[in-house]
Amino acid sequence: MTPLRESDRALARDCWYELSAPRGPGWAPLDGTVDCDVAIVGGGLAGLSAALELAQRGLSVRVLEAGTVGSGASGRNGGQAIHGLACDMPVIEAQLGLDDARRVFALTIEALDLIRQRIAGHAIACDWQDGFLAVATSPRKAAALEIWAQRMATVYDYPMQPIAGDDIGRWIASPRYHGGVHDPRSGHLHPLKYTLGLAHAAAAAGAVLHEGTEVSAIQDGPVPRVRTARGEVRARQVLLAGNVHLGGLAPGLARRIMPVGTYIACTEPLEPGLAASLIPSRSAVCDTDVVLDYFRPTPDDRLLFGGRGSYSTLTPARLAQSMRQRIVRTFPQLAQARIAHAWGGFVDITMNRAPDFGRLPSPGGGAGRIYYLQGFSGHGLALTGMAGRLVAQAMAGEAGGFELFSRLKHRAFPGGPWLRMPALVLGMAWYRLRDALG
Ligand SMILES: Cc1cc2nc3c(=O)[nH]c(=O)nc-3n(C[C@H](O)[C@H](O)[C@H](O)COP(=O)(O)OP(=O)(O)OC[C@H]3O[C@@H](n4cnc5c(N)ncnc54)[C@H](O)[C@@H]3O)c2cc1C
Repeated sequence: MTPLRESDRALARDCWYELSAPRGPGWAPLDGTVDCDVAIVGGGLAGLSAALELAQRGLSVRVLEAGTVGSGASGRNGGQAIHGLACDMPVIEAQLGLDDARRVFALTIEALDLIRQRIAGHAIACDWQDGFLAVATSPRKAAALEIWAQRMATVYDYPMQPIAGDDIGRWIASPRYHGGVHDPRSGHLHPLKYTLGLAHAAAAAGAVLHEGTEVSAIQDGPVPRVRTARGEVRARQVLLAGNVHLGGLAPGLARRIMPVGTYIACTEPLEPGLAASLIPSRSAVCDTDVVLDYFRPTPDDRLLFGGRGSYSTLTPARLAQSMRQRIVRTFPQLAQARIAHAWGGFVDITMNRAPDFGRLPSPGGGAGRIYYLQGFSGHGLALTGMAGRLVAQAMAGEAGGFELFSRLKHRAFPGGPWLRMPALVLGMAWYRLRDALG
């Protein structure tokens, strides 16, 4: 096992979602050689969404998951399904022009609709709650947030409700914030329940899932071969959806993303009325800092609070205590609340924070049979669903938005994994300083 995977598994151990979402019997590992139309590496939201879409089109699909379905970022994230991308839209405008940037943004809104449709269509009980609140930690950031929201309304036809500094207390009972923006179309859910629901929907549509099945090698060619410890899949096409763990399977892709640790703690259920008083709209909340805090209430009145950021693959010492400090800094009224669980995971950050979708060149030149979805940069809960749909359209030869995203250019982080680190340390230090200056 790679050190990154080992550390990722350690970070997953105390995840509350695993305790609150029954997994059922699971899926058997691959054993033997099989043929299919599409082999998918990775049973997270990106891989499962593609599996569902491809199976619905009548294609034979195998999903190969090293751990259990949703054991990566998809099953233990903050649960916030938010419009847009991890990067600001001008990053996309600079590369694709305004018209295509508008198309990209519209797809991120469709991604939110798609979650609602899938929840309803496949009866996925995953605690969906409407509403997202962006909050500013300084007057300067509040002014910037207001200008940003005005631009989203005029340029992207996406109006959101601005909240002035003297009104923000009605939305969030915290002394930290100086203004905000409310978006009723975004929302939040229990990510593991949703991921498992998507897995069952894909299986019901005909996809075959394998857990405990790590892909060790891929041999490209007219019929790509995907190798695992106990079997092989011969597929017409392959999708790589392994997030930060692809490593040696596709070194060129791995160099374009950096694994960055992010952490979550959740409280015991709070005393009656307290959770409702913190965020009366029950929206998900994110602040505007670069190393941001993100939090939301759960249906059983816990506060689920994410934040920090780390370039190191080591599990932070005293994680629960450090998350508790962040919680109490935001909500001093929770000084007595007990932290029940603390966990973390890695996000796949690209240099420009834009997603990285495409198709590897074939050994003989030209576009090949191996597609990839990566670089969600910590903003993938909603977009993975749409990404799966887009890649399925592309694999089935249908027109769609995949080509649009694949025109986004990405650069490799300089150096190998060890040289990439110092650059990121410097980057994080700079961002922390910028956040601290207000
Ligand atoms: C702590 C945390 C909080 C987050 N909060 C939010 C949030 O609130 N909102 C938001 O939008 N996004 C959030 N994100 C990001 C979001 O979770 C991800 O963008 C999204 O889940 C990525 O989905 P994925 O399918 O690409 O990756 P994953 O869910 O990581 O799935 C990839 C899967 O591939 C498997 N795999 C890898 N290599 C192999 C191999 N060789 N063989 C077989 N299987 C393999 C892995 O085991 C893994 O299960 C958060 C992420 C983390 C870690």
